[in-house]
Amino acid sequence: MPYEFDAAVEQCFLQLKNRIDEAGMSVDHGRIRAAFELAAGSHMGQKRKDGSPYITHPIAAAIIVVDMGLDEDSVVSALLHDVVEDTSVSCDEVSRLFGRGVADIVDGVTKLTRVNFSSKEDEQMENMRKMLMAMSRDIRVILIKLADRLHNMRTMEYQSPEKQRSKSLETMQIYAPIAHRLGMQAVKWELEDLSLKYLDPEAYKAIMTTIDNRRPVLEKFMQDMRDKITYRLQEWGIESTINYRLKHVHSIYRKMYTQKLELKEIFDLCALRVIVNDLSECYNVLGQIHDMFKPVPGRFKDYVSTPKPNGYQSVHTTVIGSEGIPFEVQIRTWDMHRAAEYGIAAHWKYKSGESGVKEGDEEKFAWVRRLLENQQSSEASDFFTDLQIDMFADEVFVFSPRGDVINLPANATPIDFAYNIHSAVGNRMVGAKVNGRIVPFDHKLQNGDIVEILTSKASSGPSRDWLNIARSGSARTKIKQWFKKERREENVIRGKEMFDAEMRRNGITLAEANEADVVSPLLKKLSFSSIDDLYAAIGYGGVTATKTANRIRDDLVKAQKATGAKSAIEKLNDAAERRSKNAKPQKAIQGVIVAGIDNCLVKFARCCTPVPGDDIVGFITRGYGVSIHRSDCKNHISGRLNPDSEAGRWIDVSWAEDISESYVTNLQISARDRSGLIMDIATALNSLNAKVRSLNARDLGDGMASANLTVEVKDLTELKTIINRLTAIRSVTGVARSNN
Ligand code: MN
Repeated sequence: MPYEFDAAVEQCFLQLKNRIDEAGMSVDHGRIRAAFELAAGSHMGQKRKDGSPYITHPIAAAIIVVDMGLDEDSVVSALLHDVVEDTSVSCDEVSRLFGRGVADIVDGVTKLTRVNFSSKEDEQMENMRKMLMAMSRDIRVILIKLADRLHNMRTMEYQSPEKQRSKSLETMQIYAPIAHRLGMQAVKWELEDLSLKYLDPEAYKAIMTTIDNRRPVLEKFMQDMRDKITYRLQEWGIESTINYRLKHVHSIYRKMYTQKLELKEIFDLCALRVIVNDLSECYNVLGQIHDMFKPVPGRFKDYVSTPKPNGYQSVHTTVIGSEGIPFEVQIRTWDMHRAAEYGIAAHWKYKSGESGVKEGDEEKFAWVRRLLENQQSSEASDFFTDLQIDMFADEVFVFSPRGDVINLPANATPIDFAYNIHSAVGNRMVGAKVNGRIVPFDHKLQNGDIVEILTSKASSGPSRDWLNIARSGSARTKIKQWFKKERREENVIRGKEMFDAEMRRNGITLAEANEADVVSPLLKKLSFSSIDDLYAAIGYGGVTATKTANRIRDDLVKAQKATGAKSAIEKLNDAAERRSKNAKPQKAIQGVIVAGIDNCLVKFARCCTPVPGDDIVGFITRGYGVSIHRSDCKNHISGRLNPDSEAGRWIDVSWAEDISESYVTNLQISARDRSGLIMDIATALNSLNAKVRSLNARDLGDGMASANLTVEVKDLTELKTIINRLTAIRSVTGVARSNN
């Protein structure tokens, strides 16, 4: 037995119910009723500014969400969108009652609600919009937020003048552009008109008055034009639907400003829309209209062959009608019309229904794909990287205490933030607060965090560890600069230590190198006037000790070869042998144990990308440490067979016992080409939670396609699972590990 609320509230809910039925949505009405009851119950006693019960707001937002064409979870979330922020209901409770999906959306909307926008210059606004999108990992979050804002703007007249202004400004600068970017014309226009009403009330009123005065004449005119065009198109056998409207207040307003026109000089107030069944008819209609009326030069725009960046498609033209009144005609197909009206939601509303897919991944993909098409980045790899709707995955947006948005690379830390503000701030940094709480220096910043840097004049400057913690190149450069300038003596001592350690690892001594006369030519080449300069450079991080020592080793090998002395490589191998006899447990580097060497640079060969479980072998490179190959790698096999001196560089390596790292490896997928292939591959990878670095597909002709996949795995077992799953996809003919 459902609860009874007061009659006005029940009436309001009934409207939502009717709207859902009119829209032809198939929903679980019990679940929607339950969401309504939870929201109505917890908002009980709260009032809107106009005196109506608060619950009328979430219901109105839910109705807008239905009109946008969203799904049941979105309607439930819209009803609950303010309960976490404004009542005692928690996200966990929402999750328990309505599932994780709804709770995540409500949580997302709540976070957006908490972001405080204060008016800033344009560049700041763009960052704000990006941050908002980045925070809405599920696109439904931002759509519900738009619905919320739209209803608040519709009922803004009851707010204080101050609030009217600030909310309208925010709407104009943040939400209307987002609606535009998502292709939701109707929402965008309404938000703009409502904002203008409070931002420039006099102009708004003047335009409205003018329009209202001319409305009877113009409406009659537009009806006539519609009838004329309909009649002509019928004659030519073109089936069409034509509607008309007066231009939006904000678009007239903008025209007055951009073209510096007086209101009475703007004649172009009428717009007709011709909707036809297929694309070729668009151009037929255009021809007919240009035949019937005189076109205004320079006003023809073909957004059908060249869509706008947000995906908008239509043919636009302006012509002069009877009595010399100009009017704009937009010509489009029904598909284009839906896309223009619902934007990103159009896909949800129409396409998913056709394919019969209701819930789950396909639908999510459709959304993302549509969004990415809108952003015009259709490369397969981009598509997949963005699959989690991380639209700005490699960036993070945070606030300064003053409310400025600072744009940093993903995983940035307070150190990056501090150096972004100013090097002096970074160099004097002694601590950091995120959202009011002290955090460690390596704390990863999240979208929307408010970051405050604590500085002290007594600070002794940055620490060398910061070079490893900072994510941005500019922060690292500034830290290095500091060390270069402030700490020469310390740098020399530290650099010498690092250099000596590298030399020892290579089994050579400086005396030996000096004797062979390889050091001073190198110093000259690197433009150091003394060995201390080299040490100082190593100390502050301008030159790496490893590279320098390796170079000396290589030069030494050459010199010694010439004189017949024992080579450094031989010594290295000797040293390895000696050490392995000591039978001390060895330390693994990146999960690999290099026989006899405890502390060398290890990298994984790109040709065969080994993962734990593969038989592996190491190759001592010139200057870049040990490169790890699969034993069955072509390069290893041919390298070992080759009887020249390089063969001596291959050494034994093995995987460590417990490995926590993950490894990047490449797969080559061959398939018969078909539509939806990449989508199926993406779906399969997603269902395995595979960490995909990139996915590139290529049409090979003859109906064949190939795809390169770069993926991060723990070990061979995980990789085999992925290979098996990919092999099972329809039309895939083979999945092989790359080796080239
Ligand atoms: Mn709200």
